[in-house]
Amino acid sequence: MGSDHHGHRKLHVMFFPFMAHGHMIPTLDMAKLFSSRRAKSTILTTPLNAKILQKPIDAFKNLNPGLEIDIQIFDFPCVQLGLPQGCENADFFTSNNDDGNEMELKFFFSTRFLKDQLEKLLETTRPDCLIADMFFPWATEVAGKFNVPRLVFHGTGYFSLSTGHCIRVHKPQNRVASSCEQFVIPELPGNILITEEQIIDGDGESEMGKFMTEVRESEVKSSGVVVNSFYELEPDYADFYKSSVQKRAWHIGPLSVYNRGFEEKAERGKKANVDEVECLNWLDSKKPDSVIYVSFGSVVNFKNEQLIEIAQGLEASGSSFIWVVRKNTGDNEAWLPEGFEERVEGKGMIIRGWAPQVLILEHQAIGGFVTHCGWNSLLEGVAAGVPMVTWPVGAEQFYNEKLVTQVLRTGVSVGAKRHMKVMGDFISREKVDKAVREVLVGEEAEERRRRAKKLAVMAKSAVEEGGSSFNDLNNFIEEFSS
Ligand code: UDP
Repeated sequence: MGSDHHGHRKLHVMFFPFMAHGHMIPTLDMAKLFSSRRAKSTILTTPLNAKILQKPIDAFKNLNPGLEIDIQIFDFPCVQLGLPQGCENADFFTSNNDDGNEMELKFFFSTRFLKDQLEKLLETTRPDCLIADMFFPWATEVAGKFNVPRLVFHGTGYFSLSTGHCIRVHKPQNRVASSCEQFVIPELPGNILITEEQIIDGDGESEMGKFMTEVRESEVKSSGVVVNSFYELEPDYADFYKSSVQKRAWHIGPLSVYNRGFEEKAERGKKANVDEVECLNWLDSKKPDSVIYVSFGSVVNFKNEQLIEIAQGLEASGSSFIWVVRKNTGDNEAWLPEGFEERVEGKGMIIRGWAPQVLILEHQAIGGFVTHCGWNSLLEGVAAGVPMVTWPVGAEQFYNEKLVTQVLRTGVSVGAKRHMKVMGDFISREKVDKAVREVLVGEEAEERRRRAKKLAVMAKSAVEEGGSSFNDLNNFIEEFSS
């Protein structure tokens, strides 16, 4: 622990993100946030992931001389761990690999290799606390050895954390006649409806099931949870979570809004070269609230048949669109209907690889967001005041969908029925067309938009001085500095 130039004691926070973009991006935001509040932040990661983080960190330091944020690199010998060379990020096995599931498990378990390195680092450095990803359950015990408080970062919000808890405790799915029958989630405020096909099979005797049990046990022994959310977004669920699940939780989000300048937003999570200026100029030529932005985050990987269906649904809707396709297609563009790009020229833009999402969402021309309901995307949509078409695929995305459609009422569901990991349930072009039209035009669309814009105002106030997230961050800093 050090002190700043006024002689104040300086909090040292270590961040240990799971190696996937959806976890690294908010963790970097969090590290920047803490250093902007005069803490020293250190991010622990592997060599290839350090390369991804270094550029935005350098940019942040240039903009904010004197603020402390560093990377500590851990060795991760992929081949020795039974992984392909370069497999240091979930992106590797979800990009274009058909046996992604098998590699996913191996990858999850390989991260255990980092345990000894964490132990050595904590022994010599003794930070004030360690905010480690939920997927490193062993971090609680390691930190405990050196009396370093370990906080858990799930990367999701109170609603889905509470939903998962209620489903695990009450197992309502055991009382329905069929897997597609809707039921109300017991104990959870709001009479939320869901089906068995949409819930996470988080228990069970599978290897992943046992791992998730370990994750939850380590959380009980941890010093609490840091949540990327803001109170006004999900007050009933924040209260429920803190009274019934985990008393020690601090919400400090939405984290994306701490990126304020153009460069910071453009560089955030950047994975491939994109021409942000071209993209924004294109949006400038469109009317307010008229363009639909379509993106499924950093993991979801649709088959060609589904991509063709999306293309045809977008074309049929007649709307302007920006569609991000992450498929590693090479020269083979069998996922595009013939002549599609010529037909939609001027009306639609396809971004291959990676889009400057926050910049796009904030543009006034964006009138809707077709999203897989990854928590970061969802919150970024909320912070930008954009109504959504919800298209959940895996993880906790179906829970997040229910927050949008049943609680916030700022989105319409495309009609995905089943939890499918990374490939997704099949959705027809008619459903895509219908949902896009529904979210962009009509009286109900206007009401949804009004609600969405109100939430965006609340999101911004939450992180300003005196706001709920600002205050919770103060509470956190105070608690772990003493
Ligand atoms: N993202 C981006 N450009 C893209 C795709 C994703 O900037 O083309 C960012 C997005 O803004 C979000 C993150 O990647 O911050 C994805 O996280 P999310 O929780 O939405 O989904 P996941 O990728 O974990 O499924």
